[in-house]
Amino acid sequence: MRAVLLAKDQISVLLEALLQGRKLFAPVDDGGVMAFRQVGSPQEVVLDYHNSTVPPKRLFFPQSETLFRYGLEGEQLALEEPQPASGEKVLFGVRPCDARSFTLLDRVFTGGNHCDGCYQARRESYTVVGLACTHPRAECFCTSVGGGPFATAGSDVLVTDLGSDYLVEAVTDKGAALLEGLSGCREADEDSIRRRAEAQAAAEAALRGEISTEDVKRKLQEMWDDPFWDRLHEKCIGCGACTYLCPTCHCFDIVDEGSEQQGRRIKIWDSCMFPLFTLHASGHNPRPTGKERWRQRLMHKFRYWPEDHGEVGCVGCGRCVVDCPVNLDIRQVLRDVESLAKKVK
Ligand code: SF4
Ligand code: SF4
Repeated sequence: MRAVLLAKDQISVLLEALLQGRKLFAPVDDGGVMAFRQVGSPQEVVLDYHNSTVPPKRLFFPQSETLFRYGLEGEQLALEEPQPASGEKVLFGVRPCDARSFTLLDRVFTGGNHCDGCYQARRESYTVVGLACTHPRAECFCTSVGGGPFATAGSDVLVTDLGSDYLVEAVTDKGAALLEGLSGCREADEDSIRRRAEAQAAAEAALRGEISTEDVKRKLQEMWDDPFWDRLHEKCIGCGACTYLCPTCHCFDIVDEGSEQQGRRIKIWDSCMFPLFTLHASGHNPRPTGKERWRQRLMHKFRYWPEDHGEVGCVGCGRCVVDCPVNLDIRQVLRDVESLAKKVK
């Protein structure tokens, strides 16, 4: 696959080229909150960031989405479905953990017997340009969960900051097509490939403290009634930040808005950390307290995902560590489970 070098001060040339005939989405500083937005000029794009506060998953799985509108015309029911996404788009500057999260979301929305056509159309309309993590933040643990700061899963192109240059590597045919005809760059040489390998080794070395997700899964399989869950949730305030900011969380609710004459059906993000999430119409709630909800969150990501898909449902982005208002650190919880697993070996 093609790999080229681009002088750092030429990045705006690349972004300008990507803007021709396409919509470009990239990290921007939105009042102190890093998020992915559509941009109209290279000057809006911020690339010297650790990771975005808000993950880019909402571009494929919107927080709120109209499934259809309905209306009564006389005795007849009229349904209007939204048009699928069209037009070419580029999602630029995604960290490898977030790019990998797209491959997990694909399994949920397109991988089984039921395919979400709107999600699939949105995914296919994007070319994803990843941005290698040369300086992972202290809360990151991607290498413990099957990823890496230079991993390419989910990216069509991978960009690496080499100091004075960017190394731009095609990962897929779609990515190679994006780089065709790119001007202002030169073919990557041996020295740039060596510098990339050094940067990768340094980034991986910075991610210390591996967690064995295999041990965690095995232990969770025998922990349903363990007293471990009694205390774990006590300081959790059930705000849902850990799930709303998680790039892999994908729970949603479907509600109707409007009257009997007209309205719309919407799909809207939900969270297993909310008490109403599992409240039955009868009033019974199988997860009545934080204990059951925290158990579900951990079991889903680290037991059920590996059982169903062969990999955990977490990409180690660290957002739930950074943004939990009561400092409930999922890495520590995993280490505690791992310690319990080692005790019974
Ligand atoms: S972010 Fe923290 S306090 Fe909020 S629901 Fe998650 S674990 Fe609980
Ligand atoms: S569980 Fe936490 S660390 Fe894992 S992907 Fe979600 S937000 Fe990131």
